[in-house]
Amino acid sequence: MKRVSQNIIKDISEHIEFMKRYNLFPLHNDGLMLTEALKSLENFDASDISGSVEKKIYSSEKSSRASNVVSEKVVNFDKQINEDFKNELTDNYEVKKITKEIFKTDIPDFNEISKLKDTISNCFKCRELSNLRNNVVFGSGNENADLVIVGEAPGADEDKQGLPFVGRAGKLLTDILKAINFSRDEVYICNILKCRPPENRNPMPDEIENCEPFLYNQLKLIKPKLILALGTFASQTLLRSKEPLGKLRGRFHTYEGVKMMVTYHPAALLRNPAWKKPTWEDVKMLRAEYDNMIKT
Ligand code: SF4
Repeated sequence: MKRVSQNIIKDISEHIEFMKRYNLFPLHNDGLMLTEALKSLENFDASDISGSVEKKIYSSEKSSRASNVVSEKVVNFDKQINEDFKNELTDNYEVKKITKEIFKTDIPDFNEISKLKDTISNCFKCRELSNLRNNVVFGSGNENADLVIVGEAPGADEDKQGLPFVGRAGKLLTDILKAINFSRDEVYICNILKCRPPENRNPMPDEIENCEPFLYNQLKLIKPKLILALGTFASQTLLRSKEPLGKLRGRFHTYEGVKMMVTYHPAALLRNPAWKKPTWEDVKMLRAEYDNMIKT
């Protein structure tokens, strides 16, 4: 059995790292794309590999500067394939194993929350957000919580500390939870976006699309009995709805089989105290449902 050259592995690794840095394809697809490409190695058809890689790169429609550098890389990559791959690569399984090592962050089937957290801390899918962030704000609290609270995105304080809901709105959330007999340690708190949008602007649709799969995985691992979505973005994203929050609140919905209540975001309550009363009604319903679930 011939061995895979370490130089080739290094080259692939650098190549993909490069594409990641320039956000040339979504993180989740990296591993899939490469595995797909590597499958074609069974017959040592190197052109399939470069073709597959190339297609992905050019379909990414990114800046011309990045494209130029990528083109150069692809040429080198092709050369490397032609010169070395055909002669040296015979063990597909071994390559997949090594690929898995290199791209362990890209395997969508996470089975531990710490692995998911590591992956997200290296995420550059949203170029603007990842360039500007100080910290990725993954989430905090009880990883086996029955209640998960989902907000919109980190603000300045959260970005600084790497923790969700730590500013003024966070303090209000702590008070709301206290009022319905929950401590922060008892629940799990996270956001739809893990990185702060600059100047606290609204999340962009592509950013939500990029980041939501992480939340989906996070919730799948925590397995809560109840979800509380805070604010319009979290509520509409999880419910795939365009309805205004005023129409969505006050009743239970379902997200991936989990009962979900939606209510106003604490930051909105700070701006508009009149929404405190309906919020109080929502969270009281949530607590009653929680008590009901625990009893049964
Ligand atoms: S917001 Fe989410 S998808 Fe975008 S860069 Fe941060 S972690 Fe990645």
